[in-house]
Amino acid sequence: MSETRTVDLGGRAVTYTLTRKAVKRINLRVKPGGEIAVSIPRRLSAAAADQFLMAKADWLLRALERQTHILEQVSSPWRDGKTVLLLGRPLRLAVEAGSPAVWTEGNRLHVAVPDPEDEAQVRRALAKAWDNWCRDTFSESMERQLPPLLALGAEKPVLTLRTMTSRWGSCSWVRGRITLNRLLLAAPPEVVDYVVLHELCHLLRHDHSPAFYALVERWMPDWRRRRAALKTLRGAECP
Ligand SMILES: [Zn+2]
Repeated sequence: MSETRTVDLGGRAVTYTLTRKAVKRINLRVKPGGEIAVSIPRRLSAAAADQFLMAKADWLLRALERQTHILEQVSSPWRDGKTVLLLGRPLRLAVEAGSPAVWTEGNRLHVAVPDPEDEAQVRRALAKAWDNWCRDTFSESMERQLPPLLALGAEKPVLTLRTMTSRWGSCSWVRGRITLNRLLLAAPPEVVDYVVLHELCHLLRHDHSPAFYALVERWMPDWRRRRAALKTLRGAECP
């Protein structure tokens, strides 16, 4: 049985779902989107769960902030003040009037359009810049990681960009084409590298067999950690 509780963490009211289970210790999980789930042994009181969260307040608030950036992205329109994840960094959108231009400066993503109130204009300008950044970032990662695969018989692939909902990338070895999700630009560079290497390795092995992952591991021993980080991007969006 679950109950919803609210606890004060340094002045911020945080709501969580408490479940009593046959567990030995208190377990805390922050799900994608910022939902907090706590399970406690049956013998413990709800107050003990509250205290546990208070003791973890710093960690929990940081984890929530990360998730909330993603949440904000999903729910808010493409207007001034929106948070946009770019290569793992949350940037704040700053919209101004001017001839179409997009640039970053510190933690700001500036976009100038003739009518700053027109969301379609803002999104169009951003989409164009996003495509260029995708092309630069993904191509650079590909060029950097490709040489040892070429030595094993792979041929240099053509890069295609698409916005996809269910996969980060795909490889058509028959056509020599690698397609990468435009959403991937929201990920930190090391995570981009993992997806690129994964698709490059498909040029040599067309399955997800142990032999395929042995190939990935050969050039990226920590690929599991990078792949796990992709989960935090669920819900991210791009222009
Ligand atoms: Zn694959």
